[in-house]
Formats: sequence, C-alpha cells, structure tokens
Amino acid sequence: MAVGSVPEAVAKLLEVTEQALWNGIAQARNGNRLGDVGHAVEETARPHRYGVVRDYVLPRRRLLAPAPRLRALHGVDLAVGAGQSVAVVGESGCGKSTLARTVLALEAPSAGTVRLLGRDLFALPPAELRAMRRHVQMVFQDPYGSLDPRRKVGWIVAEPLDALERVRDRGERRERVAEALGSVGLKAGDAEKFPHEFSGGQRQRIAIARALITRPGLIVADEPVSALDVSVQAQVLNLLADLQERLGLSYLLISHDLAVVRHVAEEVAVMYLGRIVEQGPTSAVFADPLHPYTKALLEAVPRVGRARRRRATIAGETPGLEPLANGQETGCPFAPRCPLAEAHCHAEAPALAPRDGDREAACHLA
Ligand code: SF4
Repeated sequence: MAVGSVPEAVAKLLEVTEQALWNGIAQARNGNRLGDVGHAVEETARPHRYGVVRDYVLPRRRLLAPAPRLRALHGVDLAVGAGQSVAVVGESGCGKSTLARTVLALEAPSAGTVRLLGRDLFALPPAELRAMRRHVQMVFQDPYGSLDPRRKVGWIVAEPLDALERVRDRGERRERVAEALGSVGLKAGDAEKFPHEFSGGQRQRIAIARALITRPGLIVADEPVSALDVSVQAQVLNLLADLQERLGLSYLLISHDLAVVRHVAEEVAVMYLGRIVEQGPTSAVFADPLHPYTKALLEAVPRVGRARRRRATIAGETPGLEPLANGQETGCPFAPRCPLAEAHCHAEAPALAPRDGDREAACHLA
C-alpha cells in the first residue's frame, strides 16, 4: 500500500507475524484457551517488513500552496510473534498511540501495511476486516473512563461480541461472558453488577475480560496499569503474564513506564518523534542502551540508592511535530537535544540499522 509521494524505501511492514500468531493460537487450543481457530499450522519463516508511515494533512495556508503534512509515524517496522510481548516506549507525543490505532485498524497508514494473520488489514473488504478485528483487541489505560457506568458488567464485557461476532443467542452470550470473567479471576455473578461496585484493579480485570471475549491472539495494552494504585499494579501485571501463558496471547504494550516494560516485555522498541530509534531484546537494551535517547530515558528513572546528582535528564522539551519540509526530513530528529550531536547529525538522518546480535539503533555513533 503506497500513498502520495512517500518514498518507497520507507514503505515496509508493521507486521504481526502471521504464521507465528497462528502457531500461538494452535498452541493455545491445546491448553486452556478461550477459543480456537481451525487452521493448519506450518513452521514460521522470519517475517519480512514493511514500514508504516502516517501523515496528517493540515489546512493550506495559501490557496494554491500545497497542504503541509505532519508525519506522526516514519516507516515504523515492528513484528509481534506468537506468545510474545513487545513494548513500545517513549515520551508523550512520540507516536505510540498512533501506532496502536493503526494496529487496531482504526487509522489507515499513509504508506506501508499492517498485517495480521497474513492479511493486510487495510486491503480487506469491510466484512472481512470486521471478522479480523476480533483477533486483535485493546485494553485501555483508564478502567474508570473505559467502562460505561450505566451498563452492567455483563453488557460491557459482551459488547465486542455484539459488534464483531453478532452473537445473538442469549445462552451463548452468558457462557462467553462467564468464561471471560472467570479467566480474569472474577465470578459469573459479577456480570449483574455495575462498574462502580468494583475497585480499580477489578475494573481493569473487567476491561481485560472484555478484550478476551472475542478470543483474540493479540492484545494491545495502552498503559494498562498506569491509572492503578501501585499496590494493585503487580496483580494486574501478573494476571497479564498468567493469561499469556495459559492462552498463548501476544501483547503489544504501549508504555512510558520502564519498570513495567522490564517486567512484561521480551522485546522493546524505543520511539522518538514517530521513529523507532532503538529496538531489541529488553534485557539487552536495558543493560546496554545504544542510542543516546534510550540512555537518557533509562538514566532518568529514579532508583533507590542512586545519588540525585548522578541522574541525567534529557535537555529541552520534546519538540512538537513540525510540517515536513518538501515532504523530506533533514538530520537526526534527536540532534537538538543530544549531548553527542556532531555536525553531520544535523545534516543526515541516521537509519535504523542492525547492531550487535538482534539489536537495531538509529544513531551515527551507536
Ligand atoms: S545521530 Fe547524532 S544527534 Fe542523533 S542520536 Fe546519534 S549522536 Fe545524537
């Protein structure tokens, strides 16, 4: 899928590893999964990639001038395998949420493809896209705002069934709701209660049950514990880990909380101004960050026993998105804040390139 004047070189993949996901679904069928998908499973080849670009067109300033564009995603490549947790981290405005919306097929990319189970979501006819949506579900950040306070929990949890599977049979709906609630440690009778009767942690369990009811392979979790008390964050994180093990789920975790990322994700992608600037196994990235931005993010995490004066901070504010000059980008986007910036950093944008092992970084000096 290529749109407008976006260079083909950046038209690569944001891919959920389709065969790997099928593998995970099949594995889960043998376990205690909510549902099943009846397809043959073959060995997985390493996925190829097609980056996602997302542009927003701004109003013209002059009648005949071209409309300026803001680029929220610059050729983002990401693959989530079966039973794998991948985290996307970065400051506010880095493009994490835009990326999540494209994965959920809520926003079409301007270039590149979003693939789920081998299908390009945005090339599907509407009926097939609706059928595919049940394979990827979302857990939102705020369990207070995301649950309709006027509806009973049973209605809330069953809502995706109505929208995506058109399940009309009352008995089946009741069973599926009870099953979903049971999988997150709630009782079937809780379906008759209202959200205000639950604590914050229980509400997030309800939100997770709602995401599970369509028996998805991939859960996009947007800051899933940031609105919860610290005392219940661990419970919800443990629940997510337990569900992953039991159901073979894959997670795409959107977070700015590096402690949560370290706990949950095997792979991490660090985003800055719509680009992935570093990615790799979480343990390796946290132990030895390659990109100056990743180093600064990790240095900024307060730790007990570390002297305050030794904590580095990132200079300056996160700049807002600027309209692209002639549709092109110039220089490293982190250069204005980078303590290591050299002259050519301002002239030439570094590409995300392979480094040691499974790692990638976008820095001339990494
Ligand atoms: S390319 Fe240059 S400015 Fe950009 S992060 Fe690396 S050292 Fe810093």
